[in-house]
Amino acid sequence: MYLEIEKHNFYQLKTAYQFAVSRFFYVQKQKTMQQRLKIAIQKSGRLSEKSRELLTECGINIKNGKNKLIAPAVNFPLDILFLRDDDIPQYVEDGTADIGIVGENVVYEESKEAKVVWGLGFGKCRLSLAIPKNETFTDITYFQDKKIATSYPQILGDYLQKRGVTADIHKISGSVEIAPGIGLADAIADLVSSGSTLFSNGLKEVEVILKSQAVLIANPKLEASKQQILDKLLFRIKAVQKATNNKYILLNAPNESLEEIKAILPGMKSPTIMPLAEAGWSSVHSVIAEDKFWEVIDRLREAGGQGILVIPIEKMIL
Ligand code: ATP
Ligand code: ZN
Repeated sequence: MYLEIEKHNFYQLKTAYQFAVSRFFYVQKQKTMQQRLKIAIQKSGRLSEKSRELLTECGINIKNGKNKLIAPAVNFPLDILFLRDDDIPQYVEDGTADIGIVGENVVYEESKEAKVVWGLGFGKCRLSLAIPKNETFTDITYFQDKKIATSYPQILGDYLQKRGVTADIHKISGSVEIAPGIGLADAIADLVSSGSTLFSNGLKEVEVILKSQAVLIANPKLEASKQQILDKLLFRIKAVQKATNNKYILLNAPNESLEEIKAILPGMKSPTIMPLAEAGWSSVHSVIAEDKFWEVIDRLREAGGQGILVIPIEKMIL
């Protein structure tokens, strides 16, 4: 009898052990097979710093990627590829990278397939047509039969074609703004932000072709497991953007002003109101949008708000 029980326990133990071992190997296999997403960002240029910053703000630590082609994120299933911006749409289109961060100007010039997923709000500029300062501009027909130098022949060609204008488009890859000055072209289509480069080259901006910002692009045929990682990343990006576009505000107000103050503060739901130690006064907490900031502050002061504190928000999850 005693022996029987021992034998029984032994088999139970053996089965449990076998189960644990197979479970261990199963988990290990799952770990090594875990899907990772590849993101392409600009190696060095106007978008590189901001792209890295955005990933950092999303809580993603990149294992020292300086001077490397690819670097893994240590705490998120993401590998970062550092490339020239012009190559990013093509790499995303053919699946070498799954997603990428690049200017819309480059996406529309280089790719038909890559899907624009989300606007990132930095790298803002415009692709504009510019002509010599002393020329008189009428309308788009000005460009009929003119020689235009640009690094964006696709976008420019489409733009002119839609407006029934035929021009002689010359693709040049750098220093487009000097083309009219050296007699290479009558006009240019180039990226502008302040317009100072145009001005110092004797040119004036006459027509905006495209307003551009950095965007997140994705391969249109991402497999489900990669899409899941992208959704997670996008969730974090949106939380970061909301946080930078909003501020946390605290103020003191006499109780008789509370109704008016509540109406001024939209907040996420309604403002938090707590009584102060001093009778007849309350502390009001809320969240306000950056673009309405000064307008809201002025109205709060007029309504009797005092001791207004404004605090940056690190992340905002709704
Ligand atoms: P790469 O070596 O990666 O090819 P690049 O010289 O082509 O770099 P950058 O000058 O770094 O590119 O610009 C990258 C992107 O920054 C542009 O494609 C555009 O979307 C954006 N950008 C924002 N402002 C400007 C601006 N004033 N001039 C040019 N690009 C701008
Ligand atoms: Zn480039």
